[in-house]
Amino acid sequence: MNNDIKIQFLGGVEEVGRLAMVLETSDMKLLFEYGMNPSKPPEYPMPSPLVDTVLLTHAHLDHSGMIPWLFSRSDQKILTTKITGEIANLLHKDSIKIAKMEGYATPYSNNDIKEAKNSIVSVAPSQTRNLGSDYEVKFHDAGHIPGSLMFELSGDKKILFTGDINVIDTHLLKGTKPVNCDILILEGTYAGRNHPKKREEIEKDLLGKIDEIVKRGGVAVLPAFAVSRSQELIMVLRKAGYDVWFDGMGRKVAKIFLKYPRYLKNPDELKKAMNKISLVHSDHGRKLALKGEVIITSSGMMDGGPVLSYMHKLKNDPKSAVILTGYQVESSNSRRLIDHGQLDFYGVKQKIECEVQYFDFSAHAGHSELIEFAKKCNPEKIVLMHSDNRDVLAEPLKDVAEIFMPKTGEMVEL
Ligand SMILES: [Zn+2]
Ligand SMILES: [Zn+2]
Repeated sequence: MNNDIKIQFLGGVEEVGRLAMVLETSDMKLLFEYGMNPSKPPEYPMPSPLVDTVLLTHAHLDHSGMIPWLFSRSDQKILTTKITGEIANLLHKDSIKIAKMEGYATPYSNNDIKEAKNSIVSVAPSQTRNLGSDYEVKFHDAGHIPGSLMFELSGDKKILFTGDINVIDTHLLKGTKPVNCDILILEGTYAGRNHPKKREEIEKDLLGKIDEIVKRGGVAVLPAFAVSRSQELIMVLRKAGYDVWFDGMGRKVAKIFLKYPRYLKNPDELKKAMNKISLVHSDHGRKLALKGEVIITSSGMMDGGPVLSYMHKLKNDPKSAVILTGYQVESSNSRRLIDHGQLDFYGVKQKIECEVQYFDFSAHAGHSELIEFAKKCNPEKIVLMHSDNRDVLAEPLKDVAEIFMPKTGEMVEL
């Protein structure tokens, strides 16, 4: 019998984005993730072949964004957590809405989105499931966002697919732990970059900065990703006593989080924190929020969402500040703000007089953490993916395992 394992990345292997990987053995074909880049215009992975099962680690669009497309051809079974299914559904509907608004072709219909949601076979961490072949899959918490998983395949070989991982504890989640395996398929979002400070120190610095802004009479605007980052910030702020306003899709995501308390480190604390803040539901609410002290809103990279309407009002106010806490993609509006002190308001670039600050609240393991994680998994082979800087990860790992760095579309036998 031929026991070879073949993998082929359809996207997202040499970049942090549109991830998709097909894994094939003699008797099964699996698709891991099927993501997209929500860029302008959106970017997609290569078309996926028909597979037996889809495995989805988490809801972020660069992992889940093209899953509904699979249903425009045929039915498909998706293994993921219930919470991931619900958040991904919200993001899919939103991405179609945005594509239509921006005038881009939509790769799938609302009906495909519905079918994708109905085709989820919900699984949970520490459960095991047979894949209808010589392999079974075990699910592990990935520590990245609530409900995020790593997949451990056991059969002839042990294979670990990490998706996105974080190894430190945050207010929302516990960090993930290494899993012993023969073949490690590892993300490298933060390859070459370490998180310079401990989370508690960063939180202290953030609160100190907000204090300064509020004392001088300004508003602190925190553009934050709707999934996970905005809820984490709400928890960081929960004891500080500021007048905090919460706008954008993060409100809906917070409700979903609270529906699935098993995926949160401390659900009661999130509930309490949510009860202390004001939710914005209308234009009138936005006016009130501007009279408050802190506004948490999407989008995290400032390419759309309510944050732009707030910034339009505050752009000439040097007392106010924009506080960024997430990953800033090269072409994003928030990167433009950091580099050039400008924001693009739907095609019109304007100078921003507000102070701009960045605090490193990453949901990804940093460079040294990735290396330590990989070593503790004790693999024979490591496949590096989801990174624009794989060489610097390969270098320190090449003494512990055979390293693979496939290109998009390339078939690799392991
Ligand atoms: Zn992610
Ligand atoms: Zn990712």
